[in-house]
Amino acid sequence: MNNHDLMQDDLAVLWHPCSQMKDYEQLPPIPIRRGDGVWLEDYDGKYYIDAISSWWVNLFGHANPRINTAITKQLGLLEHVLLAGFSHEPAIRLAERLVHLSPPGLTRCFYADNGSSAVEVALKMSYHYWRNAGQTQKNKFITLTNSYHGETLGALAVGNVPLYKEIYAPLLMETLTVTSPDCFYREPGESCADYSQRLFPLMERMLEQHCQTVCAVIVEPLVQCAGSMRMHDPVYLSLLRAACDKYHVHLIADEVAVGFGRTGTMFACEQAGITPDFLCLAKGLTGGYLPLSAVLTTSTVYQAFYDDYTKLSAFLHSHSYTGNALACSAALATLDIFSQDNVIIQNQTLAKRMHTSTLHFNDHPHVAEVRQCGMILAIEMVKDKKTREPFAWQERRGRQVYRYALEKGVLLRPLGNVVYFMPPYVITEEQIQHLADVAWQGIQLATTPT
Ligand code: PMP
Repeated sequence: MNNHDLMQDDLAVLWHPCSQMKDYEQLPPIPIRRGDGVWLEDYDGKYYIDAISSWWVNLFGHANPRINTAITKQLGLLEHVLLAGFSHEPAIRLAERLVHLSPPGLTRCFYADNGSSAVEVALKMSYHYWRNAGQTQKNKFITLTNSYHGETLGALAVGNVPLYKEIYAPLLMETLTVTSPDCFYREPGESCADYSQRLFPLMERMLEQHCQTVCAVIVEPLVQCAGSMRMHDPVYLSLLRAACDKYHVHLIADEVAVGFGRTGTMFACEQAGITPDFLCLAKGLTGGYLPLSAVLTTSTVYQAFYDDYTKLSAFLHSHSYTGNALACSAALATLDIFSQDNVIIQNQTLAKRMHTSTLHFNDHPHVAEVRQCGMILAIEMVKDKKTREPFAWQERRGRQVYRYALEKGVLLRPLGNVVYFMPPYVITEEQIQHLADVAWQGIQLATTPT
């Protein structure tokens, strides 16, 4: 098999995610035969560096020998068993370790099988908690502008990126939306912390006015990833935690994208020293191997569901693959790598290299901002550097960077006009430099008048 034949076969039968299928007439999907560390190899033998960790899931490289071994071992024992009425050691050990690793006070782990489902679980649990507690008037959620929480209808409803949401608006529950503390909009000379703090009264006011009917605030701590990698300061999360307590509203931290070291700490919430009422985890949880998600919550929440069956207070939510044994074994191997290799500390060197190798982008005439939070670095292209007028979305400048980078053997998949790096942690400093060089050339090409 070669690329061409597989591409033809693919286009005859597959419908790809997040794609206008017609685009593939110009740039067909690339069939990947093999993965090895940061590398992906196609069927013609061409190599690509996976600079975005295959949609932010991969942490320790493709075909990681340690994760492979763990899954293979588990495969010989048990691939899957339903988790209602049954259990298995990988699910138990993983829950123990997640409880141990996550912010203090989170004592219960509920599994699902992808990030969107984790968000659905948190939303339903929060609503259901208040019902069980006799607060039946609480049925709304507060979200931030530019947020993203997944594609299922509940998760989409609490998200706020128009590109994904607008068309489905009539199907979605109404939410209360507060302006994001997105530091892209801070005044010149204003610190990100000052800006995030300055925006907080909008949230405080919303909580004050609506707390009687609000179940929870949902937030992506520190980085709104799908929302163009826009960032805010941890101070916002500290203020939010205090306000949620004050107004008796839950806090849902969606760390599906930012969890597991992406922001420089194991979980982004740590940087604000807060414990959410619900912590949603997925993506990197299995090192990028298998679909699995988890929602961690407090014993207060758990106890509100714990009663005689006839009280009908149980959380009867389920997914067939809840707590899949292979996925849990991949997750345990992933956590072993974190603890054995001192990953969080080692990533600091990589993060520094990401910073230094992109410093000169700040002087590019079409770069408005280079922003970074730990192992996430984003470069925002604009038409006018001074006014920050964006390029028209129809021009698809990011796609030009994507195309160029692929030619050069780098998988960058810009979000609109934002080029970003979110690499597996096994990337080398030299490879980071290479990403920066290719991104620079790609941005040059995409922003040069034709
Ligand atoms: N929450 C956040 C913050 C995400 O970034 C994503 C996925 N990009 C999701 C939820 C949804 O996860 P999944 O794609 O696994 O459903």
